Amino acid sequence: MNKIIQVSELTKSYGNVHAVKGINFYVEQGTLFAFLGENGAGKSTTIDIISTLLKPNSGNVLIDGFTLGKEDNQIRSSIGIVFQDSLLDPLLTVKENLEIRGSFYQLKRAALQIAIKQAAEIADINEFINRPYGKLSGGQRRRVDIARALIHTPKILFLDEPTTGLDPQTRKNVWDTIKKLQKETGMTVFLTTHYMEEAAQADYITIMGHGEIVAKGTPLELKERFATDLLKIKPIDEAELSETLNRLHVPFTITNHVFQIQLQRTIDSIEIIENCKSNIANLEVINGTMDDVFIHVTGKGVES
Ligand code: ADP
Repeated sequence: MNKIIQVSELTKSYGNVHAVKGINFYVEQGTLFAFLGENGAGKSTTIDIISTLLKPNSGNVLIDGFTLGKEDNQIRSSIGIVFQDSLLDPLLTVKENLEIRGSFYQLKRAALQIAIKQAAEIADINEFINRPYGKLSGGQRRRVDIARALIHTPKILFLDEPTTGLDPQTRKNVWDTIKKLQKETGMTVFLTTHYMEEAAQADYITIMGHGEIVAKGTPLELKERFATDLLKIKPIDEAELSETLNRLHVPFTITNHVFQIQLQRTIDSIEIIENCKSNIANLEVINGTMDDVFIHVTGKGVES
């Protein structure tokens, strides 16, 4: 696997605020990578450094084989960025906006038209390409912002909270566009989001807290490690189930005649069910979520 982004011992302070404290992580090419953390965790500082907008105090960053601080122009042509605030002109049509943006990359007219056509196709904006940008809905604008970032066919797309402030249906549309883009083009997508259900669909997640990396892994690994599942059993005979669980040394609580058992791993439910199956009136296993992971790793106990 090719590491398209490699960050080593990266630090950045603003006066005596240590925003990034010597972090290490990498991103594999062609993956959807989610970068999470509470407000003030250091995400924007890190992304600004990686995308050449801000100078670090120390550390090494390699993007697509290019060294940050030495080959910044090459890095800029390897990446596309969708900022939270759009850079586009509300009075111009979508197409005019894309033409202006494309001219920054010194593409010849024919090449520019092809690039716009491809970007429009991937971001699914053809339906309103001749409408003024300012007249579009929030979700349509986001998709145009994404198309704008794709014109120079970058290898890595940075998306800083691409769905924040959108209603649930629109969020889903934008998210579908991002996933389709990533799947169809094999592009590496580096994303920050507040929505854990979105992060749960990433290939790999890195969570920052107080300038440090507090957890990393696939969504499944993180859930196994930091979120507990809940097994709920409604028994036929409560006394008998209490006795079985005590014999297995399984802690439980009872709410409304339903036994609640916290599980470290989903698979642990099998042995419990196996031991009391003749006494089960009803049962349910509720999987831990990325929300649980986030609360666990950014909450008390992880802070240093
Ligand atoms: P996030 O993107 O995770 O919300 P930031 O990288 O924006 O976090 O911020 C990390 C820390 O650095 C915070 O304490 C923030 O207040 C501080 N910080 C960020 N940018 C600046 C700046 N330009 N000047 C001073 N402090 C800053």
